Amino acid sequence: MSGKTFFVDLSRCTACRGCQIACKQWKQLPAEQTKNTGSHQNPPDMSFVTLKVVRMKEVGSRDDFKWLFLPDQCRHCVEPPCKDAADSVIKDAITHDKETGAVIFTEKTKGLPFDVVRGACPYDIPRQDPASKVMSKCDMCNDRVKAGMLPACVKTCPTGAMNFGERDEMLAMGKKRFEALKQTNPKAVLVDWEQVRVVFLTEHEPRLYHATLMADADGAGPVTRFAALDAVLGLRNQAQG
Ligand code: SF4
Ligand code: SF4
Repeated sequence: MSGKTFFVDLSRCTACRGCQIACKQWKQLPAEQTKNTGSHQNPPDMSFVTLKVVRMKEVGSRDDFKWLFLPDQCRHCVEPPCKDAADSVIKDAITHDKETGAVIFTEKTKGLPFDVVRGACPYDIPRQDPASKVMSKCDMCNDRVKAGMLPACVKTCPTGAMNFGERDEMLAMGKKRFEALKQTNPKAVLVDWEQVRVVFLTEHEPRLYHATLMADADGAGPVTRFAALDAVLGLRNQAQG
């Protein structure tokens, strides 16, 4: 399998939020009204105009305290379930660039049922503009990548947490770091690396960072979600039939 892949080493992320800001800057997306929720994480979630958010979570007690950071974004699934769901309603409202592997939401997503597309995603990524109904998410900075540049978030990351390149090289880098990290962190995981093009390396159990960091970390993995999707599509077909 060819194409591009991100390798994100969470053991090196300092939650500086440079990647979050670089995404907004390159995409010329507006700031949004937000509020403090008792964490340094801000805004509290992704949205139509915030395609990447650095999640922050405090876990453990005084003797075993951990502050966990997750620069969350679309994983650019190798076989994207969001596109499978979309194609059954409007063909190519979601496209898949075979050269890079980028999964891209088009303007045509405004004609799709949002609950179906979001429900199909194992990582809970799609967001929708309440006014236009167009859906959004990270597009891998496919314009930059096609021009030989790094995605804006990777270019900005000052710690080496975010890496991007040919899939084979990134997987080799990820596996090497995983083997090293395992020596001190036996619960380290190279998350879902066979299924996605944004491969996170965790220091601790993935579910500690966020419920949908790993596809089946909350016990509602792709199989369960696909079952829910099939049910929704079945109901629609019945209604149309
Ligand atoms: S992470 Fe979700 S939105 Fe991104 S390609 Fe996969 S299914 Fe689609
Ligand atoms: S730019 Fe790098 S270090 Fe900063 S929050 Fe993003 S991934 Fe973490």
